[in-house]
Amino acid sequence: MEEFLKTGERIFALERMFNKREGFGRKDDTLPERLLKEPMPEGPAKGMVHPLEEMLKVYYEKRGYDEEGHPTEENLKELELICIVGLPCHVRAVRHLQHIKFELAPAIKFVIGLFCMANFEYEQMSRWIKERGMEMKDVEKMSTSKGFFNANTGDTKLSIPLKETEARHSKHCQACDDYSTELADISIGSDGSKERWSSVIIRTESGEEVFSELKSKGYIRTKWHYNFLASQNQVVS
Ligand code: SF4
Repeated sequence: MEEFLKTGERIFALERMFNKREGFGRKDDTLPERLLKEPMPEGPAKGMVHPLEEMLKVYYEKRGYDEEGHPTEENLKELELICIVGLPCHVRAVRHLQHIKFELAPAIKFVIGLFCMANFEYEQMSRWIKERGMEMKDVEKMSTSKGFFNANTGDTKLSIPLKETEARHSKHCQACDDYSTELADISIGSDGSKERWSSVIIRTESGEEVFSELKSKGYIRTKWHYNFLASQNQVVS
């Protein structure tokens, strides 16, 4: 139940942060004019109108928001709001935002990085696949393995030597030197792993914590894979 309530708080805080970004705040937390100006005609509250300012003050305090009705840094930290999954370049951007103390930074609890060798422009890739007799809309899975780029429709598999794909990499990828998301808490990728398994590099204490918990709850199966730069890695399915 506690976790359920916390999830609600997280959703609400995220909405309030979105509002903040769009310029909404205390002035927009209001009630219909009738409730603020027309006294209640009968009942226990007869003659009263809603004391909006007083109500907002108490409400923001209870929620842990600031005077403008926005979640505070403390509040976001407590809610442990966000897990980010991204490519190495995304994760670098996230770490940079944390470094410069971007507003939502305290809410970022965990970062998962995916292995990435390169990215392709979608339009270019579609044309390229079409030239080889396959339609992009039919492709169910794309992967790289053992020096080949593979596109799979379920019935048909197209394999192209990676060397041939290099000229089609996005330009920014040609200057990228981070394959395994070195700044993530956990890095995951299936390159070089057996079918239905992924290689995992645990990089931080929180990465270790989350991974152990997933393992102990039976959400993942693990087995030792190989030594990688003298450190141990596990494979997960
Ligand atoms: S190779 Fe390209 S897409 Fe992949 S992480 Fe680097 S810059 Fe990003």
